[in-house]
Amino acid sequence: MDKLDFFTQKCKHHHLKVTPQRTAVFKALAAAENHPSADEIFQKIHAEFPHISFDTVNRTLLTFAEIGIVDLAEGHGTPRRFDTNLMPHHHFFCIKCGQLTDFHCREYDDLDIPEEIRKKFSITSKRMVLKGICDKCRAQPPDSDTT
Ligand SMILES: [Zn+2]
Ligand SMILES: [Zn+2]
Repeated sequence: MDKLDFFTQKCKHHHLKVTPQRTAVFKALAAAENHPSADEIFQKIHAEFPHISFDTVNRTLLTFAEIGIVDLAEGHGTPRRFDTNLMPHHHFFCIKCGQLTDFHCREYDDLDIPEEIRKKFSITSKRMVLKGICDKCRAQPPDSDTT
């Protein structure tokens, strides 16, 4: 299915009007890579819609998250990130540069949720979050501020 079709259908289903602003927010999301923050989306849209406020963009993104157009990535003390990848996947978080990277792993997908946890919570999704130092940061010698 086309991305924009997916968007309009989701909106229709949740009785959300497809406005030019919402479409612009969605398009910016769809074009974004690697878990953009609301601010990054706002920067992109601002050129086309100079009158749109950060607040509007942020609220639109949260609405999208509510109706399943975008996912929320877990926070790591950084501004909230949005996840445009709605397929099951896992995250690697670099503690140095803060980059959040998707990865796929069948074993993690198939991981069973222990019964005691299933009794306690109703699980709607599961995701592994691994933390460490990414390739790029590892290749950098320590204290190299100059390139
Ligand atoms: Zn890194
Ligand atoms: Zn992700």
